[in-house]
Parts: sequence; C-alpha cells; structure tokens
Amino acid sequence: MTETGRVALFRGPGQTFEIAELPVPRPGPGAMLVRVQLANICGSDLHAWRGDFRLAGLGGKLPTVLGHEMTGIVAALGEGLARDSEGQPLREGDHVVFTYFTGCGHCPSCLRGRRAACDHISMAMTDAATEWPHFVGGYGDYFYVKPGSAIYKVPAGLPAEIVAGANCALSQVIAGFERAALGFDETVVIQGAGGLGLYATAVAKAFGARVVVVIDAVADRLALAKRFGADATIDIAETPDEKARVAEVKRLTGGRGADVAMELVGRADVVPEGIRMLAQFGRYVGIGNINAGHSHPFDPSRLVMTNKSMLGVALYEPDTLGKALRFLERNRDRLPLGELLSARFPLEQIDEAFAQADRRAVVRASLVP
Ligand SMILES: [Zn+2]
Ligand SMILES: [Zn+2]
Repeated sequence: MTETGRVALFRGPGQTFEIAELPVPRPGPGAMLVRVQLANICGSDLHAWRGDFRLAGLGGKLPTVLGHEMTGIVAALGEGLARDSEGQPLREGDHVVFTYFTGCGHCPSCLRGRRAACDHISMAMTDAATEWPHFVGGYGDYFYVKPGSAIYKVPAGLPAEIVAGANCALSQVIAGFERAALGFDETVVIQGAGGLGLYATAVAKAFGARVVVVIDAVADRLALAKRFGADATIDIAETPDEKARVAEVKRLTGGRGADVAMELVGRADVVPEGIRMLAQFGRYVGIGNINAGHSHPFDPSRLVMTNKSMLGVALYEPDTLGKALRFLERNRDRLPLGELLSARFPLEQIDEAFAQADRRAVVRASLVP
C-alpha cells in the first residue's frame, strides 16, 4: 500500500480549499522530501487566493497547493543529496529551511548570477497537485524540495515558529536592502508593518540605518515595529493626510527625506507617497505590489528632477536564505521574533486562516499540518 499525506488543494480564487490524500513521493536524485512543520500565509498566497495574483502568469496549473513560506523536517533524501548548502551533513530528521524556487543554473540569467530571474524557474504553487510529486506547495503534510534548491540545516534550538519566515519574508527584505545598497548611517522609511515590514525594520537597523520610520494603519503593528527597532512610527489612522505624513518623514530625517523607502503594503496608491518621502538620490524598493492590474498616477519628474530611482525586487539569490538564517540565530534573544506568528491553524481550518489573514486580524497566520 502506498503511503499517503494530506494537502489543501487550491482549485482557484473564490473557492474553498479541499483537503485531499495524495501518494507520498520518493525523492528523485538530488531532491528532498520534507515533513512540513509550519507554513505561513504570506502576501502572495493571499493574492493568489483573492485572484489578483494570477499563478497562470507564472505557468501555473490548477489544482495546486499554495504555501511557500515554511520550514520542516527531512523525511527522505534523494540519491546524491548528502550535504546542505554550507557543506553540513544532511540526514533524515534534520530541521531545515530551503528555497521554494529553483533556477536551472545554466540559462543566460543564471549564468549572470541571477537565479531568481531564471528563464526556466521552477516554483512552489505552480505545479499541478494531481501530478507527481503532488506535494507542490506548503499547505500539506509534505513538501517536495526539487534538485538544485538551496537547503540550510537549522541550528539546534531555533524553533520552527522563528525560522518559518526565513525563506520568503526575511530573505526578501534582505535582498531588497542589498539591491538598494543601503549604507551605514542612511535613513529608511518602511511602508507596512506586517510580517515583511517588521523583519525589514530589524534588518535595516542591522545594516546600520540611523533612522528607521515605519508607517501603518494598525496601532498594534506599529507598537511591535518599535520592538523590532523602529526609531519612529507614523499611524495613518492618526495622520490621515498624506502631505502631513511626508512632512513628518522629512522632519524625522533631518529635513531631507529618507535614503531608502521600502514598499511592503501591496497597494499601488502608496507608491507615489513613498517616492515623495525620499531624499535626493533616494532609492524606492517595491516588493509588495505583486498583484497585476493596479495602478496609481504618479509624476515621473519627481524621480528625474531629484535623482531618485525605483527598484522592483522579486525573489532573491539562494544564498540570501543562509544570511536570513544566521540573522535569526544572532537575534533570537534580542528581537520578539516569536510574536511575528500571531495565529496557528490546523490544516483543516485553512479557509478560516485565510479569512483572518485577509482581514489583517493577525500579523502572520500559519498552518500546522
Ligand atoms: Zn511569500
Ligand atoms: Zn536558469
């Protein structure tokens, strides 16, 4: 008899998830089967669920399994996979984090060192769950880690709750600040104090930012941002006027505006405001707006006449995940990392988990198989 495991099948936006039992695959050469401990609900999962991030655009097939921000335990290793990406021996039972996408390693993009832009990129949530290896997303008992993925053994004593955010949110904001070449003593504005925004706050301080200002409309999130290192916060509910918010950022940054602004909201209308908050030569980093079809007018002279630039950052280079893990290890006792996950739901309650995440009733919800 073949062993089976559960997944929450995603048939399309607006449809409830369906728990299905599917055969557990044996990993092929270089691949790894992971028993999922925790899989968070990230912004892109929510966008896919709402239907404003079309997985079909990435070559996605339905039904699939959503979920990509996760961690788990090695259940089985394929032939030839004996070490993690740092050369540590890998065995069944090890706690690991891994990238949820894989570059081919030999296309023109990969050869230029841009695996995140691989011409043949393979990603969680885009394969059909009805086809082998079935466990193609994080919301299930298992996840199939394809050959060529970056894999890092989690240091002993670092719990799943703390490392689950490493392979998406945390790596993504590290990659964003690296792309923007955030420098020592620069100033930063972060739009959005969800999971990404809280990580971004701590990471900006770790890069040596002098002032980090965090903007959100939820007071509890802003209070948490302070504990993640924010020097100042702006509550949109208290300061509803955009001009007043821009003036406040200028005041907090010595009258100049911020050197780097990072968008972690996923709404087009926040972009012009963030650009206005920048100083001359400021860099605007767009990460949250992955949902196509939304726009908001903005005046390009505001970029040109002030030497500002705008960067879109999707995915990250695989070694960023190692940096994320080491950041968590260094900061586990210094930051309230455990509070990022504010709600856990068993896999059977996935519909309720998505509804709560959609209402922003929780900072980051996670599914526990
Ligand atoms: Zn994500
Ligand atoms: Zn490639």
